[in-house]
Amino acid sequence: MSLHIPPYVTFSKNVFGPVTNMCRNRCGYCGFRRDFNHPEANLMAQDHVEILLKKGVNSDCTEALFTFGETDNVSEFREILQDIGYSSFIDYVIDLCQMAINNGLLPHTNAGVLSYADMRKLKPLNASLGLMLETTGKVDAHKESPGKDPCIRLEMIKNAGRLKIPFTSGILVGIGETWDDRIESLLAIRRLHERYGHIQEVIVQNFAPQKNTLMSSIRPALLEEMQKVVAIARAILPQEIAIQVPSNFVSIGSLVACGASDLGGISPVTIDHINPGARWPSLDEIRSTIGDIELRERMPIYPHFVQEGWYSPSIEELVKRYSDENGFRAN
Ligand code: SF4
Repeated sequence: MSLHIPPYVTFSKNVFGPVTNMCRNRCGYCGFRRDFNHPEANLMAQDHVEILLKKGVNSDCTEALFTFGETDNVSEFREILQDIGYSSFIDYVIDLCQMAINNGLLPHTNAGVLSYADMRKLKPLNASLGLMLETTGKVDAHKESPGKDPCIRLEMIKNAGRLKIPFTSGILVGIGETWDDRIESLLAIRRLHERYGHIQEVIVQNFAPQKNTLMSSIRPALLEEMQKVVAIARAILPQEIAIQVPSNFVSIGSLVACGASDLGGISPVTIDHINPGARWPSLDEIRSTIGDIELRERMPIYPHFVQEGWYSPSIEELVKRYSDENGFRAN
């Protein structure tokens, strides 16, 4: 299957901070979340975050990826934050982003569903924000996950567009959604992008079963299925939106041949905390699978948004320090 082979494939060198694994949702496939009172529930201490950020800068990264379970409005989590001196979740996230900038890294925050007001606070301190749409379909995997309501998630993606924030979204393949759901999910993202022009990439993420989850015995998304979804995504989405596939899960070369053009964050410092069993490939390994296609490093803000100035004064110095004249990572 070969619809649109990209002229180059991009990636971002990042440090991955799984800030908290506490989450109000209970997605059937998730091996990352913990209850708020679970012995393994964790909120990264800020001095731990600081060490990670320094390692990232010393390893030539440009991106600080911050991910969170959804903790919004959960009283137990508010108490945890109060114990360390914070009266609101968003103030805590803002401080982490500022720490990243002070260390010389560009934040990309994926903090679950955020309000317009909270995104407005995060905009000046982030190169981009992210929220997977996952699916517009109604799937059993999300029946205990109020935050996975597609209306709520599309509203946030719309608000990011109103705020002119470069944005990452995506779909999850193999969690019980139908082919119609996949197509409708991609069309929903396209419609918002047509209105606001803010989507920089759409992740096509394959479901892979994890131990001790409700879906541990469900078969993973098949490579042929992924190839077809990537090709459909490439046909549905405008060319300026990159199709991202995870570099550590799937046969990259065959997905690039179907139109995938980005591999997301690849970290020289941290493991993939969401899928800890999946190792990041080396750049040489990637080059060997994509053949003659050029591998280019980008920042967490895509080149055309760099060129169009979709970033705030707070991160301008970093964006200019790291980018070349075309908005990619300077050599
Ligand atoms: S929202 Fe994210 S962290 Fe929470 S259960 Fe679902 S996949 Fe896991």
